[in-house]
Amino acid sequence: MSDLILFWHRRDLRIADNTGLAAARERTRKVVGLFCLDPNILERDDIAAVRVSYLIGSLAALQKRYESVGSQLLILHGNPTQAIPALADTLKAHSVFWNWDVEPYSHERDTKIIGALKEKGIGFIEKNWDQILHTPEEISTGSKAPYTVYSPFWKNWSSKPKAQPVATLSDAEGLTEAELEIARIAGVKELPSATDLGFVWDGGMSIEPGEVAALERLEEFAYNAINSYKEDRNFPSINGTSRLSAALKFGVIGVRTVWKTTLDAMENSRSEETEISIRTWQQEIAWREFYQHAMYHFPELAEGAFRETFKNFPWQTNEKYYQAWCEGKTGYPIVDAAMRQMNELGWMHNRCRMIVASFFTKDLLLDPRLGEKYFMQRLIDGDLSANNGGWQWSASSGMDPKPVRIFNPASQAQKFDAEAEYIREWVPELRSVDTEYLVTGKITPLERDALGYPQPIVDHNKQQRIFKEIYQRQKGAI
Ligand code: FAD
Repeated sequence: MSDLILFWHRRDLRIADNTGLAAARERTRKVVGLFCLDPNILERDDIAAVRVSYLIGSLAALQKRYESVGSQLLILHGNPTQAIPALADTLKAHSVFWNWDVEPYSHERDTKIIGALKEKGIGFIEKNWDQILHTPEEISTGSKAPYTVYSPFWKNWSSKPKAQPVATLSDAEGLTEAELEIARIAGVKELPSATDLGFVWDGGMSIEPGEVAALERLEEFAYNAINSYKEDRNFPSINGTSRLSAALKFGVIGVRTVWKTTLDAMENSRSEETEISIRTWQQEIAWREFYQHAMYHFPELAEGAFRETFKNFPWQTNEKYYQAWCEGKTGYPIVDAAMRQMNELGWMHNRCRMIVASFFTKDLLLDPRLGEKYFMQRLIDGDLSANNGGWQWSASSGMDPKPVRIFNPASQAQKFDAEAEYIREWVPELRSVDTEYLVTGKITPLERDALGYPQPIVDHNKQQRIFKEIYQRQKGAI
């Protein structure tokens, strides 16, 4: 047996600040990266072409990073539970290392792989966390139960000291030419393009893939926009958020690095206002972890509602409503602008994600799982825990202490897109309409026809009354 450690990358597509990779390097110089294109994931029906493009771009960047430190990133294509132990066996690897994940599928897969590695006498790293600042076991209530409400979670989570970034992989040793040849025979392939895998993304890639680009984005954000984040983050026409969600989803950036950057920004901050803004952004990082811990403790969240009242909620079925919402043709300008932004860019502003998810569930009365799936089919940052958390919050079926939350599209637009800049950008046929009518949605039927813009598919006031009636009935029934 050699001293080779294969490091299996999953949601940690970087060589900097990677706990499992750093642990591997502490044991040996001969650390070789591995990524497995898993058909169990790629063949699902909730995969976005833009996300696959970002993934492949980030893998190409990771290959370069490995080369720069003297090693390689190998690419496998197949079921990891068989492909990885087989490759490790063929290469006579000492161990396979990886970082742990919160998703139900990853547990099932990793358990199988551990079994197969043990059978072959190949080592592995025990449950090692990387993508979160605190493990799910570390943050619990006084009675050792997981939190199901964010505020006390945040209080506990933010009071705990956070780890520093770990060492970047350096001075490594890759496979020899002979070993590479053996790896090729065992199934290691060239990195395919997203198109090779059947994913065609012809929208604008709004976010550059790769570790270096993500670090640059973080630095730029921490230097500028973070200081006014508390205010600016609410306005979809302002570029006031980090756009690091895809990098965080795929671990193209290390979360300890992200946290340290916020502490440095805090240190350099010159006013209470900027400190509050930085704190607000830190709270978003904590929301991300809150939902990851929730998914870890309650994997059933992936299947449906958390709250009892919503477990058998009589959501309606209406293909016409669903299609209009997907295409951004509901006749509600702010909703349509948001859906078109996502369809075109593969990314949507957080305020708008809340507006369209509320509209989907409280106005169209459609099953949130359908909306959640459509988001996964479109988003560059589509992530089970965050997306499910956002949808359950918007549907009122999840971990939100407020019993029912209904967004009025008109008041949301009046407050957060008061000059209708965002609406005009994404719904070009409405550009000539006066701002007042755009934000209130009070565009006459005649004008809508003349501009080729749809009539409202539902009446918001009527629909929210219906929703509340159904909700009360359901509540009474349990
Ligand atoms: P910033 O405002 O700069 O926030 C920094 C980081 O914090 C984000 O990159 C993200 O990692 C995290 N974050 C921020 N807000 C949240 C939140 N509410 N929940 C969890 N993490 C958060 N985020 C995803 O990463 N993937 C999703 O699939 C996803 N689906 C969502 C669906 C709905 C219905 C809603 C309401 C929210 C969803 N979010 C999702 C959360 C949020 O909208 C995005 O993280 C954010 O818009 C990404 O932009 P940003 O990187 O500029 O965020």
